[in-house]
Amino acid sequence: MKAPDFAYARPASLDAALALLAEHGTDAVPLAGGQSLVTALNMRLSTPGLLVDLNAIPGLAGVSEADGVVRIGAMTRHRDVGTALVRDRLPLLAAALPHIAHPAIRNRGTIGGSVALADPATEWPACCLAAGATILVQGPKAERRIAADDFFLGLYTTALEPGEIVTAVEFPVPGPDAVWGFEELSRRHGDYALVGLAATAERGESGLTKLRLAFFGVADRPVLAVKAAAAIEAGDVAGAQAALGDELDPPDDPVTKAATRLHLARVVLGRVAARMRDGSVSEES
Ligand code: FAD
Repeated sequence: MKAPDFAYARPASLDAALALLAEHGTDAVPLAGGQSLVTALNMRLSTPGLLVDLNAIPGLAGVSEADGVVRIGAMTRHRDVGTALVRDRLPLLAAALPHIAHPAIRNRGTIGGSVALADPATEWPACCLAAGATILVQGPKAERRIAADDFFLGLYTTALEPGEIVTAVEFPVPGPDAVWGFEELSRRHGDYALVGLAATAERGESGLTKLRLAFFGVADRPVLAVKAAAAIEAGDVAGAQAALGDELDPPDDPVTKAATRLHLARVVLGRVAARMRDGSVSEES
């Protein structure tokens, strides 16, 4: 199928993009990497009258560190998230990156597009949740800083208001006792996750504390499994795996039953918990 007719604008500033979105209301949408939006247009799942291309706006891409925070600009391509700085400061993101689709999609798709789209089977939203990230959003009148905990509201649904643009994602730099874990199961490498888990914690003499378990592919949004995290902090991995039955709501589709996804989530949790007890490693290590 081909996309329906639409108008196209390539503003050279954030203000100009915001003005276009304000003028055209819900008939206009931002265009970032186009890896999801163009597919939706071609399938006529989305029929906006105007695409506001963010690609010519200076200052929206790049990775930097200041004041205990790593800031990743919204227009940073997935591939470009994998800087030396991110590998050093945010190894969780570096571990998640190779799981995002395939090289061609990673070359164009952006972190801002991914969090704005909020596909529940994707890696960046779960990493944001696990790492306690803040989503920076610019509207026509003001900037908002939204905690990842409050940003992902449902299937392809976020706290973004019409006319707002995600400008960056900020990740707190983990402390010296920080550990992390990442694991994803998919049918083939690069496919959307059947089940994934991004996790962060602090590790001390008494075990893991401040554990955040962000599952993806197992509900209509990335999910923080709070009861399971508490059980693991108490040393009860089996109890944590049991608690997932209450905390996750996996989709039931003809190819992968909900019970299968729940089983896989428990498997993934067991692996990640074991690794985090011993150190910071992902399934590639
Ligand atoms: P676009 O497609 O340009 O936009 C997506 C949506 O977000 C649109 O509604 C757009 O209006 C809105 N938007 C974009 N940027 C902003 C912004 N800054 N502010 C406000 N709204 C904005 N992703 C994964 O994470 N993991 C995968 O395994 C994966 N597999 C894929 C496999 C295939 C075959 C394809 C086609 C895509 C896959 N993706 C996957 C999606 C890909 O990562 C996309 O790049 C991503 O979801 C959207 O980013 P984008 O920059 O391309 O956004």
